[in-house]
Amino acid sequence: MSIITRFAPSPTGDLHLGSVRTALYCWLYAKHKQGKFILRIEDTDRDRSTKEAVQVILDGMRWLGLDCDVGPVYQTEKLARYREVVVNLLAQGKAYKCYCSKERLDTLREEQMSSKIKPRYDGFCLQNNPQNSDAPFVIRFKNPQDGAVIIDDLIHGSIKVNNTELDDLILVRSDGMPTYNFSVVVDDWDMQVSHVIRGDDHINNTPRQINLFNALGAKVPQFAHLPMIHGPDGKKLSKRHGAVSVLEYQKQGFLPEALLNYLLRLGWAHGDQEIFKLDEMIELFDIAAVHKSPARFDLEKLTWMNQQYLKAADNNYLAEQLKPFLQDLNLTDGPDLTAVIEIQKERVTTLVAMAAQSKCFYQDDLALDESAAKKHLRPLALEILQDLQEQFSQLENWNKSNLHDIIYATAESFYVKLGKVAQPLRVAVTGGNISPAIDITLELVGAKRTIARLEQAIKYIQDRIASAVDTN
Ligand code: GLU
Repeated sequence: MSIITRFAPSPTGDLHLGSVRTALYCWLYAKHKQGKFILRIEDTDRDRSTKEAVQVILDGMRWLGLDCDVGPVYQTEKLARYREVVVNLLAQGKAYKCYCSKERLDTLREEQMSSKIKPRYDGFCLQNNPQNSDAPFVIRFKNPQDGAVIIDDLIHGSIKVNNTELDDLILVRSDGMPTYNFSVVVDDWDMQVSHVIRGDDHINNTPRQINLFNALGAKVPQFAHLPMIHGPDGKKLSKRHGAVSVLEYQKQGFLPEALLNYLLRLGWAHGDQEIFKLDEMIELFDIAAVHKSPARFDLEKLTWMNQQYLKAADNNYLAEQLKPFLQDLNLTDGPDLTAVIEIQKERVTTLVAMAAQSKCFYQDDLALDESAAKKHLRPLALEILQDLQEQFSQLENWNKSNLHDIIYATAESFYVKLGKVAQPLRVAVTGGNISPAIDITLELVGAKRTIARLEQAIKYIQDRIASAVDTN
């Protein structure tokens, strides 16, 4: 059997982490089985679907590298097909027109609720068969009255639902648009989807859909309903818990492969292995091994995962990823990006942090961090910095090893520990008291900027001395 999976988002808002995990599992399962992965945009709800939301889905999928073999297919381009199928169902007596007014349905519902009966359509139009009425109508599916539907769920096992629990669901609304339950079945049938992998918020729809597949004479696909993702408080993941939109994580400087790896592990495990290369994910992933219970989203773990990926990533690749973040901060004029990345990638957890901590390499004017300056740019450091400035100005070969020698020799000649030279120098040149090793930092900042910043730090100390004298 050839394996065909599909990711079928409704373009009604952001692309959430939960949906992305569904997409990933569909994608991985198709790749694992050398099958096909379809992207289908379920846009028949015209009031709620937007072009922007479609774009967000396409951008998100592209960023994550979840390429589809078929699609994107838009349901609104298939309206004629849904019409054709429903006309056939009507002709075969498997569906019927329902003219019940909203008022009648509301009253029915209230009556059922007050008699503690599960609200369901009572089949009025099926029994009374009103014909040729000019009143607006919907088309309902004639759900079987007897027996039960069994879902053989690949994650949850066998689930039995009696047909008496299911009412005659609406296939086509009064405006002629197909409902979700109808279009999804027609599409899964037409596209020969073998495995429907989706969130378990759809599990109530599945028995109805199985009945519909049977009525159409279509092969029923296999189902796998993925448990929800919860926030740290055990409630369904939502904006209350922070960012849920995948593009927000892109903006915050996460690498797509780190996010995928994190989402893979959120609901699936292979021993206690945490990091999976893409090929490994494809090789090892199996839908049957997905956990039954909801997973908990943990930003700290995602951040840790991102850090692992940053550390291990190729510098040229990271340079491509980092560029937009540097551009946002207007940081374009400076040393070769891969050299900066080499010294930064072990030190940060996101690309945003990497960009922010690279200001000293790409910016002429650099503000001194107030507290670092107070602590390290003291009168005691004045002569040391002046001496360094002098030596640096005369240095012909501006490289890490020569800079290293000058810093050591300066500490010796002033009879101070290395830190008494390196820290004031670091604050002067990077603005703060944390940076990669000082010699390579200086090499990459370059002679011109280093000397200008020493000038600034010297002035800072001189002003400090002057104002202390004034206040005395
Ligand atoms: N369009 C549905 C949603 O976004 C998914 C339907 C499905 O996977 O069957 O929730």
